[in-house]
Amino acid sequence: MGCIQKSYTGLKPTLQFCYHALCMPEYAIGLDLGGTNLRAAAVDRAGHVLDRRATAANPGAGREAMLGEMVNAIAELRDACGTEGLAGIGIGVPGFILLKEGIIRNSNNLACLEDFPIRAEIERRLNTPVILENDANAAALGEKWMGAGREVDDLVLLTLGTGVGGGIISGGRVLQGYLGMAGELGHITVYPDGNPCGCGNRGCLEKHASATAITAMASMLRLGEGLSARDVYEMALGGNEKASRIFVAMGQALGVALATLVNTFNFPLYLLSGGVLAAWDLFAPPMLEEVRRRSFSFRTTATRIEKATLGNEAGLFGAAYLPWAEAAGPRRRGAD
Ligand SMILES: [Zn+2]
Repeated sequence: MGCIQKSYTGLKPTLQFCYHALCMPEYAIGLDLGGTNLRAAAVDRAGHVLDRRATAANPGAGREAMLGEMVNAIAELRDACGTEGLAGIGIGVPGFILLKEGIIRNSNNLACLEDFPIRAEIERRLNTPVILENDANAAALGEKWMGAGREVDDLVLLTLGTGVGGGIISGGRVLQGYLGMAGELGHITVYPDGNPCGCGNRGCLEKHASATAITAMASMLRLGEGLSARDVYEMALGGNEKASRIFVAMGQALGVALATLVNTFNFPLYLLSGGVLAAWDLFAPPMLEEVRRRSFSFRTTATRIEKATLGNEAGLFGAAYLPWAEAAGPRRRGAD
């Protein structure tokens, strides 16, 4: 990006000013990698998107192809916006992250990137430091920065998708835990003898409150074969009682988890996001009833449970914000 040289010819001798702050605003690059999409954006400090890239993620193509796509997207944005104003690069990825090592320990969606020093490899190819974070943690940070959580410093986000992700923002920063695995709220036990989960537990929240859970329950109740969560939602709207019961069960499971979170954190705000939010009117009443029953502090304070507002952009904004969040204090890294 070129620098604007502005001259005031009315003055003698001619003075030339270089407005670096205007022509090269400070910006960060965020990349949000999912099982199906890869999105990256250059975002300035005020949250304006300067440029963006999007492509289909194809984990089946293998690790090298995935790494290449990630590095290309970031390098293109850096070339387009210039290195002078670049504050840093943040990357959100699904799965359990080992923060210090910069490794994805386990990811259902991106098995090809598991147990590989992904951060170090991307840093090597870009020749610059990058910050790695769990995608739901990044989404929670995005909602705090530019979304429904702008007015608070403490919040929890639950992302309801094919699984259930979670992120906890405390004091304006991602709560990471000693390894980086904090906030895996989809694996909170809501029913001790509930459905088995890939993590080894039974009755995890995501087995009772995700889009996958809705379709599984529909299949169990013999509502039809190959139904999507949206199909089940439409059936419930059309008066199908079994379909309606599925959303009540989902709301109750969310309520059990949220009551535990409210009782644990005493935060002012708990946000829900994901495509399943379309069914809010069906699952929210039983959910809120369950939280009221189980949480004294929810019953007696102004604690809010609301919809997130950034949708699937939250992870992208949060990833971009990671360098500025880090500037407030260092995160866990290796001995470097
Ligand atoms: Zn689990």
